[in-house]
Amino acid sequence: MRKPIIFGNWKMNKTNAEAKAFFEGVDAHVTDKADFGVAVPFTTLGTCVDNSTKLHVAAQNMHFEANGAYTGEISAGMLNELGVKWVVLGHSERRQYFNETDKDINKKAAVAIENGMIPIVCVGETLYEFEADKTESVVRKQVSGCLSGLNADDVKNLVIAYEPVWAIGTGKSATVEIAQNTCALVRDEVRNLFGNDVAEAVRIQYGGSVKPNNIEEYMSQADIDGALIGGASLEVDSFKEIIDAIK
Ligand code: PEP
Repeated sequence: MRKPIIFGNWKMNKTNAEAKAFFEGVDAHVTDKADFGVAVPFTTLGTCVDNSTKLHVAAQNMHFEANGAYTGEISAGMLNELGVKWVVLGHSERRQYFNETDKDINKKAAVAIENGMIPIVCVGETLYEFEADKTESVVRKQVSGCLSGLNADDVKNLVIAYEPVWAIGTGKSATVEIAQNTCALVRDEVRNLFGNDVAEAVRIQYGGSVKPNNIEEYMSQADIDGALIGGASLEVDSFKEIIDAIK
């Protein structure tokens, strides 16, 4: 039985004061029905870790090198020092605006695992690819590229977020059927690469305009184990409603 996993993604939002207020409003409300967490800006990681007892804290990115001349980057060791155990890798905004490739994400995932962290690896097709009926080939390639060479036991513990790019921040969510079918093919690709036990263990999230009023429908699907949530993770009340929706 896979434990549900629900993470918010604040993107480039919230000061330290706002992050503290969010944790004060949400942390005590967190249940054990799922792993609940938020991916927060680097500048607020320390505040979030200090104010968390139950809500997990994730970084939104990291570099694969341990240190060196990489201005503006953050290493896994630096995240570890802050007590951060989760990291979102390869979000479509990182791929789109910062040219991240499957190869980069693969290196980052390996380093995150080596450092005892759990990566949330994002995949998903663009609108152009969706309309050209390329979802399956694009997503299978991203999954195999991002997970290449990883150890099967490590893949069991990581998380894959399927986020169709056309549904992120647009208010346009994928139908439950599209989300389920694509999450099923993500699992199938993991099965091809690492075998059935790993495919049955790995947790797969859907992301793209998930809100308190539609999360239950997505979560009822066989291959959807959770959600990665942008907009609706920013407010205390909507995040609490999301927590309440996971029974
Ligand atoms: C995201 O940031 O990963 C996301 C899915 O955003 P939204 O929920 O706002 O579409």
